[in-house]
Amino acid sequence: MIFKSLCRHAEIGANSYLLETSTARIVMDAGMHPKHEGAEAIPHYEMLDNGSIDSAIITHSHLDHVGTLPVLLETQPQARVFLTQETADLALALLHNSVNVMQSKRIELGITEYPLFEHRELDTLKKAFERRGIERPFDLDAAGSIRATFHDAGHILGSVGVTLEAEGKRILYTGDVNFEDATLQKGALFPDAPVDALIVETTRGNHERRADYTRLGEEDAFADAISRVLARKGSVLIPVFAIGKTQEVLAMLHRFKRQHLIPNKTPVYIGGLSTKMTHIFDNFSEVSRRRLPGFDFLTDMELATGGGKHRGPIPFVSGCIYALSSGMMTEKTVSNNFARQGVLENKRHGLFFVGYADPASPGGRIREASPGDDVLLDPAYPPVPLRCEMRVFDFSGHSTREAIADYIEKVRPKKAFLVHGDGPAIEWFRGEIQRRLPDTEVIVPAPGDAHVI
Ligand SMILES: [Zn+2]
Ligand SMILES: [Zn+2]
Repeated sequence: MIFKSLCRHAEIGANSYLLETSTARIVMDAGMHPKHEGAEAIPHYEMLDNGSIDSAIITHSHLDHVGTLPVLLETQPQARVFLTQETADLALALLHNSVNVMQSKRIELGITEYPLFEHRELDTLKKAFERRGIERPFDLDAAGSIRATFHDAGHILGSVGVTLEAEGKRILYTGDVNFEDATLQKGALFPDAPVDALIVETTRGNHERRADYTRLGEEDAFADAISRVLARKGSVLIPVFAIGKTQEVLAMLHRFKRQHLIPNKTPVYIGGLSTKMTHIFDNFSEVSRRRLPGFDFLTDMELATGGGKHRGPIPFVSGCIYALSSGMMTEKTVSNNFARQGVLENKRHGLFFVGYADPASPGGRIREASPGDDVLLDPAYPPVPLRCEMRVFDFSGHSTREAIADYIEKVRPKKAFLVHGDGPAIEWFRGEIQRRLPDTEVIVPAPGDAHVI
């Protein structure tokens, strides 16, 4: 059996991998690179013969795992697409939004190949979806030569890792995984059985967590910081990804209010895509494996949702909490506009990061700036001085490197393929695996290279 990375860039980006047996071909994930544009953002689908794959597996609904699925299906219309019900709903909402984003980039940035797909293609895509539950094995090809089992990956609603069994071998692809409980999401439940090959994410390989870190301690520090901003009549801007991080932050704010860590009447705003995604989270509140079962954000929290057709734009006033996308504060998004139009330059306000921001993104630039520095948020406008209180809190949706290394040690793979991480992160894992499991072959798959499993 052959494993191939179809990723164009080695770091966190457009994830896509091929597993090929003597009779079947399976693609795992079909991501879009969040930093690159056009063809550069698409995996190497040209390495697949047209009409040649049996099926595709989508591990979760983040852009870097599902963003180019419609592009893959253009040359692979016969492919069946396996995913969880939660991922199906979230992915469709994300991809419809992505069409809109690409349409505006076509106009604003002159990228003529955008949009890469249209809304109507997503109706066809939907018909290829085959929804599967966790821990229920299913066949990936018509002959039944390759079987898959989804495992809860604890990363976001609906996220899975997957075991593939074929030709007497076991392969496990982690997707994005978190082994710890978050505020809403419960930690991953992965099998302990040994595997022949492990394809493992390495996102946090370059990050050492403070020894005294606890999730609850970090949440309480976050609550304390928010309450101080509100006490001085400022507002708090929390840039968040629409899927996962928004709902984690809302679950925290709910606790803070209930326990009177922040004033109960503080208005909380979410906007646009986050509202749509939160609605989908609410649809699964009774059935998904999570904390706060049955709790509906949109009905039980009295959220203020802006950006809708009948509600108008979100007003920026004092004494409010704004959990707005995008998480990296990309140009032309609500979080970027808010920072540029009042938050950043006013020392009363707080700008609190709760997740990953690429160093080259506007969010990343703010995080690296010192108080008083001018920060470029959007090339179309002048830079803005950083005068507000800026803090970074650690609520990552990815496992610590130690927890992932412990898991690797447990399943003792003959081959470990290191993916989804930048150079230093991958090197930490390489060293750790060589130390703990000297017989394991560590492979950093280069695009298109065929590796025998
Ligand atoms: Zn993810
Ligand atoms: Zn990812």
